[in-house]
Amino acid sequence: MRAFDYVRAADPRQALAAAARPDRVARYLAGGTTLIDLMKLDVEGPARLVDVNALATRFGAVEATPKGLRLGALARMSEAEAHPEVRRDYPLIADSLRLAASPQLRNMASLGGNVLQRTRCAYFRDVSFAACNKRDPGSGCAALEGVNRRHAVLGVSEACIATYPGDLGQALTALDAEVEILGPAGPRMMAFEGLHRAPAATPHIETALAPGELITGFFVPAGPWTRRSLYLKVRDRASFDFALAAAAVALDLEDGVVRQARIALGGVATRPWRSRVAEARLAGRRLDQASAGAAAEAAFAGAVTHGGNDYKPELGRRTLVRALMAAQAMEV
Ligand code: SF4
Repeated sequence: MRAFDYVRAADPRQALAAAARPDRVARYLAGGTTLIDLMKLDVEGPARLVDVNALATRFGAVEATPKGLRLGALARMSEAEAHPEVRRDYPLIADSLRLAASPQLRNMASLGGNVLQRTRCAYFRDVSFAACNKRDPGSGCAALEGVNRRHAVLGVSEACIATYPGDLGQALTALDAEVEILGPAGPRMMAFEGLHRAPAATPHIETALAPGELITGFFVPAGPWTRRSLYLKVRDRASFDFALAAAAVALDLEDGVVRQARIALGGVATRPWRSRVAEARLAGRRLDQASAGAAAEAAFAGAVTHGGNDYKPELGRRTLVRALMAAQAMEV
């Protein structure tokens, strides 16, 4: 690990000032469950860490109101998952948190850090591999011809096929959440769906955050679909693991007919993947195996595989069908 400064910010103003110094590459530190790992691996080497944990008094609450759910970015994953109104009214969010990582990690990791976790691509995390466009722009991509069983099939480019590793991100995407951001120019909101970028030719640029910006929270609007929602995650190891395929679904049904479906896919894409094409296939149709299957076919119509992950479109389709049928069967 390389030497770095450590600054503990007492308030947002101090945090922004400490992170904004142009002569230093700074990173915000909350739970540290991703960042410290990557620093030990020498994948990340910030010159300064700005500890924002003291800001939890302002940005750490979980609050449900008739308008929706506000999740402070510094709430811990375990706190949000255990919140009774999250479990009752937004089970998709609770599922996505409960099925992520180990209990120890969920007790440490913040929600803001969780959505910004970086890919588990082995070539990205091991600096002995020279070819990784995400770590070293222009160096190539070892995964294209290498071991790519866990890699993405949706949203990929010739520069990078790394899978987005999170779970909460799919839940927030499906539920049309907004992300609250504080930066040198003041606070701003944006659609969560716009936070993560597809790799295209610049896989090292992963989000739409500007330098020095800090995620302070998320807002999930209330709607008739939030209670009939769930997250289905398929993984090699059921105790804790990253998704091979996952589906976040939320349904508004009337007499078995879909008024609205909201669908995001995980484990198969380079970013939280909203599948509006699948949603459109379901709108106005009776939900059954046939319509769910048609939606799943549409969701993966553009999949691109690279050998080791040839199985993923089929696994992803089956995962989505299972999730839709399970959501239909929920008692709400
Ligand atoms: Fe790097 Fe992306 Fe290729 Fe993995 S898939 S080696 S992260 S460029």
